[in-house]
Amino acid sequence: MTGASLPLARRAPDVETDEVPALGDPAAELAFQREVIDRLLHSEPVGDVLVTICERVQEIVPGTRACVVVVDEVTGRLRHAAAPGFDPDYIARTDELIMLHGRGLSAEAARRGVDLAVADKRTEPSLSAVSKSSMEEGDIRASLAHPLVQPDGSVAGTLTLHWSEVHHPRRDEIVAVHHAGRLVTLVLALAARSGATIPTDMHGRARFLQLLNARMTRRAKPCAVLVIHLGGLDLLDAELDSGVGSALIRLVADRVHLETGAHALVGLLDNAKVVVALDAETGPVRDRLAANLLAGLSEPFSVDGGEFALFPSIGVAVGTREDDAYDLVRSALLAAEAGRADGRGRVRHYDRELRNASADRLARLAALRRAIDKHEVGLVYQPFVELATGAFTRAEALARWQMPGGRRISPAEFIPLAEATGLIVPLGEQLLGLAIDQAREWSLSAPHTRVSVNLSGVQLSMPGFAERLIERIEDAGLGTWPVIFEVTETALMENLEVGRQGLQLLQDAGYRVLIDDFGTGHSSLALLDELPVGGLKIDKKFIQRLSTEPAARTVVSAIVAVAGAYQLKTTAEGIEDAETLRIVRDLGIDFGQGFYMCLPAPADGMAELLNRGFDL
Ligand code: C2E
Ligand code: MG
Ligand code: MG
Repeated sequence: MTGASLPLARRAPDVETDEVPALGDPAAELAFQREVIDRLLHSEPVGDVLVTICERVQEIVPGTRACVVVVDEVTGRLRHAAAPGFDPDYIARTDELIMLHGRGLSAEAARRGVDLAVADKRTEPSLSAVSKSSMEEGDIRASLAHPLVQPDGSVAGTLTLHWSEVHHPRRDEIVAVHHAGRLVTLVLALAARSGATIPTDMHGRARFLQLLNARMTRRAKPCAVLVIHLGGLDLLDAELDSGVGSALIRLVADRVHLETGAHALVGLLDNAKVVVALDAETGPVRDRLAANLLAGLSEPFSVDGGEFALFPSIGVAVGTREDDAYDLVRSALLAAEAGRADGRGRVRHYDRELRNASADRLARLAALRRAIDKHEVGLVYQPFVELATGAFTRAEALARWQMPGGRRISPAEFIPLAEATGLIVPLGEQLLGLAIDQAREWSLSAPHTRVSVNLSGVQLSMPGFAERLIERIEDAGLGTWPVIFEVTETALMENLEVGRQGLQLLQDAGYRVLIDDFGTGHSSLALLDELPVGGLKIDKKFIQRLSTEPAARTVVSAIVAVAGAYQLKTTAEGIEDAETLRIVRDLGIDFGQGFYMCLPAPADGMAELLNRGFDL
């Protein structure tokens, strides 16, 4: 920054900031401050939190556009951290300009530590021609820059307001800026202290988009954007002390930089997604890079003496200078989510199929979110028969999404969507509540029947999930007997280590856990010995071939033999006819479930059936 002052940039009048509540009435201001701090504590990127504050200032001071400009940790120069009212491309160019010349109204206010105002930049002789033309381009006629002075007296940056017309900042506007400035300073200090700052070598979302936009405009070459979803990190983040979370993110950043080299632009999209932009070399080069990233990030990370495994999946989208940076990132994000839904640990390209699906999917996602809010997802129950006695000793709780028009949507459709977006967590909570209520009711009306609840791999891999589950059922005063759990083999294999710990806790607490859809994942039979589970549900794919394919019978009897050796009970899923039921009984399977015995149905009136049993 140069030492020259801005003689005609007026020092804004001094005001007492305590006299007027400035960010709305005092209660609203307090609520807003809480919201901001809460979001920060929930690891929302600092840039996004700052954008919220700017937007708040814009509400209070109509007609202005607010920006937070911060001192860059690396260069010591100013750069925009939030500027929601401006075209990101313009901001990226302005930053380059500030970096180059080191001056401008904000730089000057930061250097001198006082508020500075320019009421009409066209008649302001102290502004350089470069600054003037830049402000012209940004449609800025008047500005007010307020330094963000930290408790130790150093200046972290400025909160700067811009107007498109000639404007003399009013006293109430200056007060608003002071109040908001305090909050921004607090946010920056908290972020720095908790380590929740965007690591210096990874940009925040807003900044990444700005830089990507500038890069795309500048370069003739197409650009490849890779979104890396770090499965497990979002879930860890809520539980771990933020120090561990951010240390983990730093290690991730290091590995990403190692694989992508110095020319890549790397950002943090949210607390579980890293985004990388680079020149789109040829397809094979991109594929190799994505494969290396996937392999590199799949290796466990050690932080604070603990080992953390993440489950990366990568989405790739390629665009040219005609494309919009935001759309390109969104496409890569959709590809990453699609890859995750297909099975984690994959690289997926954004292609025509996804392009068509994405509009549809967004609509469904919005509908699912609404359905969860309105408790439109409920449970039906499908009993299993104990094959030795014909008693319905268990009933599986199966989710059904009942649309307002009456249409029922299968969980095969919405559970994967809920899992890929994290909605499974609130949904799972709701459904567990319903299942607990039902188990309580049947403990009186059909006391020999236990309720079997499906758990998603996403839930199971959340640290603390099993503990909360146990506590919840205990609080309901149910005891452990009336509830059992099912976890699909695929979910278990994907999250083996974390999953195993959760299952162990459930088993130690006295719960029985069944491996669902057994035979569709990749577990080896030998692994059964080590897993804390009480039984297997043999996938319907095998059961349905029993009556026609001799090979299916060989496979199923091998599964039954191994399960027996480990004292695991077996259940046959998907029994649709008498012949299959007979074979299943001959093979010595313990329980049977299928449309032949009972269709999934609402719980109302089911107690009578449960008590009657099935006539074998
Ligand atoms: P699943 O746990 O293996 O559930 C059994 C599925 O097989 C159910 O489908 C059931 O309706 C179906 N089924 C039962 N008997 C027969 C039969 O004889 N023939 C055939 N063809 N199918 C039969 P549904 O209800 O569509 O559920 C699909 C999957 O969605 C479930 O498979 C489970 O993995 C998942 N799911 C359902 N409810 C929940 C839930 O509350 N939470 C979680 N995380 N997943 C759930
Ligand atoms: Mg199941
Ligand atoms: Mg199943």
